[in-house]
Amino acid sequence: MALPDSKLPGVGTTIFTVMSRLASETGAINLGQGFPDFQPPARLCELIAEHLAAGHNQYAPMPGLPALCDAIAIQTQRRQGLSIDAANEITVTAGGTEALFAAIHAIVRPGDEVVMLDPAYDSYGPAAELAGARVHRVPLRTPDFGIDYEPLAAAIGPRTRLLIVNTPHNPTGAVLAASDWERIAHLIEPTGAMVLSDEVYETLVFDGRRHTSVLSNKRLRGRCFAVFSFGKVYNATGWKIGYCVAAPALTAEFRKVHQFLTFSVSTPVQHAIADFMREEPAFQDGLAAFYQARRDRFSGLLAGSRFRLMATAGTYFQLADYGLISQLPDVEFCKELTRSHGVAAIPLSPFCAQPMPARLIRFCFAKDDATLGQAALRLTKV
Ligand code: PMP
Ligand code: GLN
Repeated sequence: MALPDSKLPGVGTTIFTVMSRLASETGAINLGQGFPDFQPPARLCELIAEHLAAGHNQYAPMPGLPALCDAIAIQTQRRQGLSIDAANEITVTAGGTEALFAAIHAIVRPGDEVVMLDPAYDSYGPAAELAGARVHRVPLRTPDFGIDYEPLAAAIGPRTRLLIVNTPHNPTGAVLAASDWERIAHLIEPTGAMVLSDEVYETLVFDGRRHTSVLSNKRLRGRCFAVFSFGKVYNATGWKIGYCVAAPALTAEFRKVHQFLTFSVSTPVQHAIADFMREEPAFQDGLAAFYQARRDRFSGLLAGSRFRLMATAGTYFQLADYGLISQLPDVEFCKELTRSHGVAAIPLSPFCAQPMPARLIRFCFAKDDATLGQAALRLTKV
């Protein structure tokens, strides 16, 4: 029997998996796939063990444990001054990935257009295509990776259902300001479009700046989904737990997808995070300084190298221009760097439809001092 045509003919294995595999085969230091090499807070792990032992092992409620939704609403009020209705506007998901997929599938219909900004995180495009959408990709401005509003305005039209935005931005580290949300509101208000804002790195904004969520914009509040991930907050990317915030009518549609995609996520982990957020409400406040110090350490160590580093305002990623070192395309350069110099990085071309104007790769600096030191020693010899 002939197999049906692939629904995603252009999709192979993600670049994160490819580079992590190569790093492990070659014994290279893995600054590619974004994950911290720090452990989650010990108390949080203890709480998970307590809830496992207490028998909290069966299905959680579909929208999320009420205690966790309440804790998220309290934290959002405390950190960002925003009120969220915990019962009707928050859905706990299997990581940011599920939240992105469910939001897209909740509102995008075949023939709709989805606009995204390149470089864009790799899951947006395939999720939109599976919903039957036509994807329009608008490049971010270089070298600062702000939004280029003229081409964005030209891309948004009557068929646009969704604009996908990411702040702090993976892979560039760029951060949007309140004025960006105003300009986006201005562009989409005359259309039926919504905004999906990927804010999984919300706690990692540096240099005294603050994260500005799409939820803070009054004109967009009723027509946006905002996506978050506890994986980034608690050094626990493997727990796959996140959440989506949206106005009640959008949340109702979101939950129709979520209840058939995963239905609900890990009960003991939800209990533990809810307890931990109550016990240590200020934990998240320390993350930006912690990662800013890692960013500064890494860039200091690479100052003598032939990589030219781009400014990083948020996330735990550092872009580097390797144009002085090699003219190889970025995927080949990253493979060569891994094999010959023992450091894995992520090329940017898999995030983009059009080639980037510069030769850029991404390093993840969420690593301990010894690992960053060793990696930098190798990179300065390239
Ligand atoms: N969005 C972006 C921009 C990411 O970098 C990631 C993963 N690092 C995700 C979404 C997915 O988050 P999660 O691992 O919680 O599924
Ligand atoms: N979000 C992680 C990164 O940007 C990768 C997650 C994955 O492997 N899918 O590196």
